[in-house]
Amino acid sequence: MLGTAGNLSIRISELKAQSSEFKFLITASGRDKGELTEDDFLIVDGNGCHCEDSDSARNDIKPSAETLLHAAIYKHTNANAVFHVHTTNNTLISALSPQLSALSFNGLEILKALGFKTHDVKITIPVIDNSQDMKHLAKTAPSLINESIPGLLLKGHGLYAWGNNPSEAKRHVETFEFLFEYRLKELSLKTKS
Ligand SMILES: [Zn+2]
Repeated sequence: MLGTAGNLSIRISELKAQSSEFKFLITASGRDKGELTEDDFLIVDGNGCHCEDSDSARNDIKPSAETLLHAAIYKHTNANAVFHVHTTNNTLISALSPQLSALSFNGLEILKALGFKTHDVKITIPVIDNSQDMKHLAKTAPSLINESIPGLLLKGHGLYAWGNNPSEAKRHVETFEFLFEYRLKELSLKTKS
């Protein structure tokens, strides 16, 4: 995670189906992700609203606008941790073409890190048009989530990946990033030959 880009969240209370009655911890807007301390996280509810308004000591921090997409992912999946990262590889591959709506991978051993028993599967990760209107994104993105694939890409922006716990979410981020780098190198080799 470079500079202040991206955000990390962890669900801290039970999710009641289809409701916003749950809470999660998320990194505060504008904090350097290489220097995070516990003071750089805040608690928000299932609508992405800061739950600590009465605590004046914490009024200096606010959730990122991207909190709404974290909330939408919690509502539509079994995730307990959602990580969002901007990397060169995920930004580049998601913006390869304006028409791109998904990326597929198959036959690679690394796919087992997404929970599959064999390399012999085809996975498809949705690629969604980026928008500065996070309310719109939070409304449209969930319907594009593939239940068996714990990730989605925002075009020219970054990756959201999730898991049952922070370790699993991290493993999924690393797996997707491997796949993106692999595909970019593969495309580069094809261009040269
Ligand atoms: Zn972002």
